Parts: sequence; C-alpha cells; structure tokens
Amino acid sequence: MIPYGRQDISEEDINAVVAVLNSDWLTQGPAVLQFETSVATLCGARHAVAVNSATSALHLACLALDLGPGDWLWTSPITFVASANCGRLCGAQVAFVDIDPATLNLSVKDLADKLAAARRADRLPKVVVPVHFAGQPCNMQEIGALADEYGFRIIEDASHAIGATYQGEPVGCGRYSDVTVFSFHPVKIITCGEGGMAVTNDEQLAARMSILRSHGITRDESIMRGANEGPWYYEQIDLGFNYRMTDLQAALGCSQLRRLRTFIDRRRELANRYDRLLAGLPLQPQKQESNGMSAWHLYIIQLDEALAGEGRRRVFDELRDAGVGVQVHYIPVHLQPYYRRQAVGAPADLPVAEAYYRRAITLPLFTSLEDAQQDAIVAALESAMR
Ligand SMILES: *Cc1c(COP(=O)(O)O)cnc(C)c1O
Repeated sequence: MIPYGRQDISEEDINAVVAVLNSDWLTQGPAVLQFETSVATLCGARHAVAVNSATSALHLACLALDLGPGDWLWTSPITFVASANCGRLCGAQVAFVDIDPATLNLSVKDLADKLAAARRADRLPKVVVPVHFAGQPCNMQEIGALADEYGFRIIEDASHAIGATYQGEPVGCGRYSDVTVFSFHPVKIITCGEGGMAVTNDEQLAARMSILRSHGITRDESIMRGANEGPWYYEQIDLGFNYRMTDLQAALGCSQLRRLRTFIDRRRELANRYDRLLAGLPLQPQKQESNGMSAWHLYIIQLDEALAGEGRRRVFDELRDAGVGVQVHYIPVHLQPYYRRQAVGAPADLPVAEAYYRRAITLPLFTSLEDAQQDAIVAALESAMR
C-alpha cells in the first residue's frame, strides 16, 4: 500500500539522534535549545518553545492567553480535533466557523458574519485558531483586521505549514497573530517522532508557555516569589505539565530542518504534477491563493457532486483495493460525538464543511513518492471514477 504520507529519514538524521544517545543529556537540553533557535530564525520570530506535541503547544498557547471557563474559542471544523480540544482543555466553549469551498481554509466572510452576530449576543470569542489547511496559509491579514476590530487573540495552527510563506514572509513570523504552532508528527512536513513548537514575538507569552511546559516550575531568580535558598532551589509558581521535548527528538528535528527546503520543493513538484495529471477529470483540487506558498502537507481533491457521499466511498474503497492509501481529512470536528453530545458549542451551521466532507479524498503525497507511483495513483483514480 502506498501510504498517504510518510517520514523521510536520512543517515544524518540517524547519526544526530545517536550522538544525543551518547551524550550527557537525553531530556530537554542543548539540542532543544538549538532546535528552538533554528525554528525561531526560520520564522523570523523572537521566541520558540518546544514541546512534546502540537496538541500540547496549542494547550499552552491557550493557557498563556488566559483562555478559561466562560470564554469562547473559534476554529475551523475541517481540522484535526486538537485545534478545537485546546479550548475545551482550558474549560472554554468552542464554536466553529465554516470553510471556504475552494481554499478549504476558514472562511473570512463566515467569520465576519458570525463575529457580528456574536457581538449582538455578547459572546465574542477570546481566541480564534485559523488552521493553515494542507499547508496553505489562511488569509491572515483579513483575520488580523477582524481581531483588531473585535478584540480576539489569534493562535495560528500551522501544524501543516512549517516552511510555507504568506505575503512573502514565513508562516510563524507572527505579523497578524499572537502565537503560531507547528507539529512534528511523522506525517507532517518535518518530524521529531512526536513533537511540537509554539513561536511568538511576545516575551511574556513565551515565558508563560515555557514555565507551564515543565510543571509551572522556574529556576529563574528574577521571577521567584521568595529568596533563592541555594543551588538546589526552584519554585513552582503556576500549575503546569510535563510537556517537555527530549533532546533525542530535538536532534532529529534540527537535522530534518536542514532539509526542509528540499522537502517542500519535492512536495510542490509532486503537487504541480498532480495538477497536470488530473486536469480534465471531474474533480477539484484545493485552490491555491496567490498571496501564499503552501508547504504541501496534503494533496486534496473534491469529487464532483455526482460522486459525493456513496460515490466517494466507492472511489475510496477501489483506490485502497488498488494499493493506494488514500485518506479523508477531516471528519468535521463539530460532527464528532464529543462535540455533538456536549453543549460545548453554538449550534453548528456549517454547510460548506459538511458538503466538503462528502466529496473529499486525500491522495498520497510525501517526499519519496516516485513519479511512476504517482502515475499509477492517477490511473487507479481514473479507473475508480469511471
Ligand atoms: C497533527 C495536527 C495537530 C496535532 O499535532 P500533534 O503534534 O500530533 O499533537 C494539530 N492540528 C492539526 C491541524 C494537525 O494536523
């Protein structure tokens, strides 16, 4: 089976991890610091806080922004559940904004409409989480303008989008947001095995996240409440977690980061090839906006309405039977039993997301996918759609 995504591990990656195993530090140490510095530099952001997953990074970002009970977090329904769960983990309520049918990112128009209604109902969101879906940056300038108008904070879920650019600047530079989060899960653009990072230009948010990732403990005398009692002394000044990344993971991350450019170039090349090979078939690839450059985490097609629902299921099954490991990204989060069951959100009015879900298929896309394999995938798709 050709998977929909897979990691790309080199001899240098392996050597980098082995070097850490032979060193004095295994948990968070010098390699984590180096990885943070490298990602911050790549993004043009002041601070970076490495953690054990993007899920943890989203949670810490929400806590650092003081999201809590009585507050609302809004995000896209077409995302991984973690983009919404971070709100619930802080005790906030969650609501969803519909997607744009072509770019599949959060619809700025639906966001503006829902904000106007929320202002009248006096329940504006405290935090909005735009998701750079499949690696394509959201319209951050417009979302940022709405944040100024309505007073919410922005966490970019860039789990798919390390290395992408928006208006010529790297995703993560934070021009229009408070925090940006990356994932280093093996199917993402670069991997640490498991891992995540939050980048920000706000020193206080960075300090808060870095204390919370390690139990709420500090060894920094300048923020201790009492006197430093000696070299053994630390203080717990907040209630935190063990969300630390290991140096093993960070060494892998640093090594992978050196190949980020090559990875994205190959992904883009394959995506352009899919565009050419699929032209003329009754389906729509994700529309790419001219103001950004995707990191190409996923290549997604929407089948025509005639093949929605049961037709999609048939095409999907035939592709799997033909050894093509297609996927569907994602089941709309508001339809998950947890979000249906709990009165955790506003009643969902998300027709575009639901229509998208009945038509979507993710085709395999990863750096080591060969042109010949891609040709075979397209042939299998054509045959399944007949
Ligand atoms: C993968 C993913 C996450 C979670 O990342 P982890 O590192 O696995 O915790 C969050 N949001 C989106 C959009 C993702 O794709």
